[in-house]
Amino acid sequence: MRGVLAECPNDKKHNKFVTVAHVTQDWVVDPAGNFLQELATLETTHGPNIDNNWTCHTCGADAIVTAASVPLRRI
Ligand SMILES: [Zn+2]
Repeated sequence: MRGVLAECPNDKKHNKFVTVAHVTQDWVVDPAGNFLQELATLETTHGPNIDNNWTCHTCGADAIVTAASVPLRRI
């Protein structure tokens, strides 16, 4: 995945964002396979993507997301 750089339009010090990632999980299910409880998240199948919405976790503003010149760093 190419790197991304997200920035809050209201305050550049806001450095946490909410966006979508796809993961696989172990579930407890009933006999028909209906979800009852999540036990664990096993792996990330698709991480954050530049094409998804990114929202500032501090103030809720829609973030400005651009392709970065450096690879995305895992935290
Ligand atoms: Zn913000």
